[in-house]
Amino acid sequence: MQDVPLLISRILTHGATVHGSSRITTWTGEAEPHRRTFAEIGTRSAQLAHALAGLGVRDDDRVATLMWNNAEHVEAYFAVPSMGAVLHTLNLRLPAEQLAWIINHAADRVIIVNGSLIPLLAPLLPQLPTVEHIVVSGPGDRAPLAGGTARLHEYEELLAGHPETYDWPELDERRAAAMCYTSGTTGDPKGVVYSHRSVYLHSMQVNMTQSMGLTDQDTSLVVVPQFHVNAWGLPDAAFMTGVNLLMPDRFLQPVPLAEMIAAERPTHAAAVPTIWQGLLAELGAHPRDVSSLVQVTIGGAACPPSLMEAFDALGMRVCHAWGMTETSPLGTVARPPAHAIGTEEEFAYRLTQGRFPTSVEARLTGPGGERLPWDGESAGELEVRGPWIAGAYYNGPDAEPLRPDDKFSADGWLKTGDVGTISPDGFLTLTDRAKDVIKSGGEWISSVALENALMAHPDVAEAAVVAVPDEKWDERPLATVVLKEGAEVGFEALRVFLAEECGIARWQLPERWTIVETVPKTSVGKFDKKVLRRRYADGELD
Ligand code: ADP
Repeated sequence: MQDVPLLISRILTHGATVHGSSRITTWTGEAEPHRRTFAEIGTRSAQLAHALAGLGVRDDDRVATLMWNNAEHVEAYFAVPSMGAVLHTLNLRLPAEQLAWIINHAADRVIIVNGSLIPLLAPLLPQLPTVEHIVVSGPGDRAPLAGGTARLHEYEELLAGHPETYDWPELDERRAAAMCYTSGTTGDPKGVVYSHRSVYLHSMQVNMTQSMGLTDQDTSLVVVPQFHVNAWGLPDAAFMTGVNLLMPDRFLQPVPLAEMIAAERPTHAAAVPTIWQGLLAELGAHPRDVSSLVQVTIGGAACPPSLMEAFDALGMRVCHAWGMTETSPLGTVARPPAHAIGTEEEFAYRLTQGRFPTSVEARLTGPGGERLPWDGESAGELEVRGPWIAGAYYNGPDAEPLRPDDKFSADGWLKTGDVGTISPDGFLTLTDRAKDVIKSGGEWISSVALENALMAHPDVAEAAVVAVPDEKWDERPLATVVLKEGAEVGFEALRVFLAEECGIARWQLPERWTIVETVPKTSVGKFDKKVLRRRYADGELD
């Protein structure tokens, strides 16, 4: 067979020609959203590559983006890797000092920034010696950027006048194409580097019917940020199959999201559960026609059953998926097997984290390092391997890649830090993250199981459960609860509900409770249990 490299430039040229009339629509907050065809993205990506080459970008230089989800960000997604450089998407919700650490660690030479994010970038510039060029796109005051050593450019001016085609080089498919840093819940953030080959193969998997299975008849509302594991692979996958993209830019609040669904009628959307909780509350208060949205991919954190039921009632079918930065991210997708469709088992299958695709091999490891069977009962740490699973972390251009023992097994599998079971037919059910599980008197209590049960109570908007130290039992659960507006349910009633309606064993019931206004969220919108544990230790949650 011919040995043709799997390159991102191939995905781009295919999308820009075969699916040239598919569109990226970017929400602007004004009367009309902004629309650009895939063909236009193709020519503009070529112009961007010429422009970046003109700035001196070459080899595997890192070009960073500090951007919302929009058409220009997709142009960078294609131009930067296709020319041979490395796209580094920056998480705009990270604390400033972490952002600076990451930019310096990656040694980014160029940063493309949305104008509205200049207030975030400008104060960091004196600490960023490797950054030579800043390219600004979209509205926002440029003044705070003046006076630094990096040269400033306007995105549109930089592209103007360049040729609309680029002679994309035939690269080694194993070459670095993009990088993302994990959010560093423990220690420094860690860089994961994706190759052309891994992105290409991952995109094909995203498109398979058993995954997202979208076509050019679909429009996908990409709420998951482009800095959160490359928007779960959706932009690259879309250029393979012509899926239209609806990009929310900075309008990520429940009201504009509901408005854009009603106006643009996407058929698919992807985001973490907390986004959907917010949208659900908004739709409850102000119903809108969201009937176009037939498939909703939820991942990044466990999807509470109550959320799935609520969306089902609205006619939106939730599809649960699991993954992580190190897995590109697609790891599992919960599409029930044929024999379960239409039976009582179907919902139970949908609640699992899902089934592994061919290219993601999985195994469970017990506390003593023993392999556990796929029997749906033995719980252990999930380990995975495959062509789009990280084999190491980036450690700088001249340093050896990092392979910490707690992240990689001796034989090279990724240790996910997630604990769960796998059924004989390959469905993963996660009980917890290893670091979130509550170790009470030698037994484990799943924080996720308690949260899901609490969020099934009609008066509870959100609930997060964390382990807190206990003299007698080592650890016990602390339940932090956000009540729905006007609700007044007491803790004792919630305990009774957990025991009697949800079947939670008595010894697992929390005896420590607290009402909070909101559960703190991480930079990618998940419950931030680290902050809750710290607040409890500081005496703020008694
Ligand atoms: P972060 O560590 O900042 O949350 P990632 O997005 O890489 O960044 O997080 C991956 C982790 O998110 C997984 O290891 C797992 O613990 C959790 N996760 C992702 N999807 C799911 C899911 N469907 N159910 C439960 N947990 C999930």
